[in-house]
Amino acid sequence: MNEIKYCEGCGVELQTEFPKKIGYIPPSALDKEQHICQRCFRIKHYNEVIPIEMDEDDFLQILNNISMSDSIVIHLVDLFDIDGTFITGLHRFIGDNPFIMVANKIDLFPKSTNKIKVKQWLANYAKEHGLFPEEIFLISAEKNIGLMDVAQYIEANRKGKDVLVVGATNVGKSTFINRLIPIIHQDTEIELTTSRYPGTTLNIVRIPLSDGNYIIDTPGVIHKERLSEWVSPETLKAISPRKTIKPKVYQLIGEQSLFWGGLARIDQVRKTRNSFVCYLSNDIPIHRTRINKADEIYDKHLGELLSPPSKEEAELLPRFQKHSFKISGKGKTDVVISGLGWVTIDGEVTNVDVYVPKGIGVHVRKALI
Ligand code: GDP
Repeated sequence: MNEIKYCEGCGVELQTEFPKKIGYIPPSALDKEQHICQRCFRIKHYNEVIPIEMDEDDFLQILNNISMSDSIVIHLVDLFDIDGTFITGLHRFIGDNPFIMVANKIDLFPKSTNKIKVKQWLANYAKEHGLFPEEIFLISAEKNIGLMDVAQYIEANRKGKDVLVVGATNVGKSTFINRLIPIIHQDTEIELTTSRYPGTTLNIVRIPLSDGNYIIDTPGVIHKERLSEWVSPETLKAISPRKTIKPKVYQLIGEQSLFWGGLARIDQVRKTRNSFVCYLSNDIPIHRTRINKADEIYDKHLGELLSPPSKEEAELLPRFQKHSFKISGKGKTDVVISGLGWVTIDGEVTNVDVYVPKGIGVHVRKALI
């Protein structure tokens, strides 16, 4: 494409190279009379929002432009990876707008999960990041849990405002918006077309509601520290839990290691006795070994016994980097590997080393569940 063209729906500059990036138009569609990007096309013809990606700096720039808007702001986070999907700079842009947090994928948590405790945990977490949501909802966009409550809140508080949805990639933002539209878009006479945000050439699409306001779909922010941003589509499938997670309990006595496939290694490096409860996709096998054997096993069996990743993919992923933590022994502690899962450690004061591909985030937190 030589000449610069713009989408007639949202105004974004069109490109034909990167299907998941903003402004993508299939080359064949350039012959058509009307040039609209794939995202606008799908909303218009299939009433369906598709995910679009953008890095955090560009995204915060966009938010800067719309912070003056009169909107209900919905921050969607992924309960399976809260640190990796939380947009840290958000508090600067919310202004006086009503703000709610919607935590998706509650279907992955065991049935026994204390939801009040999880909400309290999220409220504290938000507060530490300067955010004070008016409400926190635990939902599953895919399994249709809790969506009605969110829709009711929106309806009761909208009062002529737009609904602005922000979230990281893969939190389920598209699924959420696609489910939300039919609930709050009662007037089916209106055709779902997209439009440009007034006065700007933002990469944002506005989906009209029957009262003249809009649901605003922003691009999904890419957080590079999440393992999910690095792996192949097959491995992504394996690490993304589809069903309720069955926590796997290991009593570690002394210096032992747990391998999560070949994607992470968690060592108890002191002669202590602790329970390590692993929350991760049921498709990732766990192998327990002694620490003094772990290096050898990794070198010999990566991509085979220790998989995913496959041997080929293992060559492409960054080498393991060590993260060391002291576990206080006061209450339960989670060690979270961004995009992969977490281990809840309970018992004595101990030290833990976590090995993950370089660049992947590892965080310690007070146990979530
Ligand atoms: P987006 O990138 O934020 O727009 O996310 P998508 O809507 O494309 O969803 C990303 C992934 O999360 C997909 O594999 C979905 O199937 C999955 N997903 C979305 N909502 C849920 C949910 O409520 N529970 C679970 N377990 N997975 C979900």
